[in-house]
Amino acid sequence: MTEKETKQIKMEDVQAKADEKKCPVQKSLVFIEEFLAGPMCGRCFPCSIGSYEARIRIKRLVNGTASDEDIETVKRISFHMQVASMCKKGKDTAKYILENIDSNEFSDHISGVCSSNECIEHIKYVILPENCTMCGICLDACKDNAIIGEKKKTYLSGYLPFEIVQKRCTKCGKCIKVCKYGAIKLVSAKEMAEVEAVGA
Ligand code: SF4
Ligand code: SF4
Ligand code: SF4
Repeated sequence: MTEKETKQIKMEDVQAKADEKKCPVQKSLVFIEEFLAGPMCGRCFPCSIGSYEARIRIKRLVNGTASDEDIETVKRISFHMQVASMCKKGKDTAKYILENIDSNEFSDHISGVCSSNECIEHIKYVILPENCTMCGICLDACKDNAIIGEKKKTYLSGYLPFEIVQKRCTKCGKCIKVCKYGAIKLVSAKEMAEVEAVGA
């Protein structure tokens, strides 16, 4: 995209793109990234510096590395942007973030939960052994070799159960789409860590 084309992105387009997301943290990140890529002209500091700093903090929430201080800072930046930005574009960006930040979702992300399952650092794919028929369809669908298991054969009595090797999983979601038995599920990273801690 050329610089000229980039600058033609309108605020309505920015909002439409952000509204495609369900997670309030993702909405805020998409809004601010689209704003920075297009309408933000850089003529006043509250908006230009504020937007860059807010993006850094919101990204931490998406990546699972944020603290309460990041949320407070994004709030402070947004209040300041809303009051001191020179034009409506900066004020509208701040307003959008402030509307989303009031949900509990922001603080949930600090504890590793994205209830919309859109922040991939906060989710894991797992296979439920009780639903798995060992058909092996997911094994063929996973191009990252993250699934291990042995397809069921009539002449075998012992099987290697199907399992997802978390460190290899890129969270592409292909396996969940092909499993016809509802045996692959998304769980929050926090939920999984708690289960693992109990089992340890
Ligand atoms: S508030 Fe308006 S004038 Fe100021 S940097 Fe943002 S877009 Fe430019
Ligand atoms: S596709 Fe589903 S049922 Fe088949 S092996 Fe994979 S998890 Fe099990
Ligand atoms: S989400 Fe993608 S990488 Fe992970 S196990 Fe499923 S198909 Fe493989």
